[in-house]
Amino acid sequence: MTTQAIHDRRLTRLTDLFDADSRGENIGYGPGAGRLREAFADIRHQAGQLRATHQARHGDTRVEHDLLRRTRVSIRFGTLNHCTMNDDDPTGAKCLEDAVVPAGHQGPLIDRCRPSRCANSVIAPEHLPIWRTEHTSLDQLLDQPGLPSGRRAHIDAQLAEVDLVIRKATP
Ligand code: SF4
Repeated sequence: MTTQAIHDRRLTRLTDLFDADSRGENIGYGPGAGRLREAFADIRHQAGQLRATHQARHGDTRVEHDLLRRTRVSIRFGTLNHCTMNDDDPTGAKCLEDAVVPAGHQGPLIDRCRPSRCANSVIAPEHLPIWRTEHTSLDQLLDQPGLPSGRRAHIDAQLAEVDLVIRKATP
């Protein structure tokens, strides 16, 4: 996929998320989701101001979408969660804690992501079925007879993380 195609795909997903939030739908859980909601509310406010001062005339969502395109919203869409880490301010990024960051690397270390514990993590409604499936798989593994204690402890730890995600994302 070209860089432009990736950019376009990201903007489409961001616009879908914005529209869902504007319709009052839940776009996700966690502090990252809260920051996204604030950014979206600010865009709606700006659009309202532009219309009120006759700097924008469109009655539909084109004004909001134009503003969204021009606003820097930090988000990386993922299968298990979305990451809202701001590359210029990685405060709270769990993946960077105690990590050896490769020279020249910018942004999060996705393969060290901690969806259950990071303030930048967004668990969106579409992520939950994946986490629930993972929970079921881990439960089944634990039911296996004769599981070595080390393996059992590892699965228990994984299950605790999955539990945490599901609890945080369950109203
Ligand atoms: S831990 Fe995950 S959500 Fe948090 S900053 Fe790193 S990649 Fe993003």
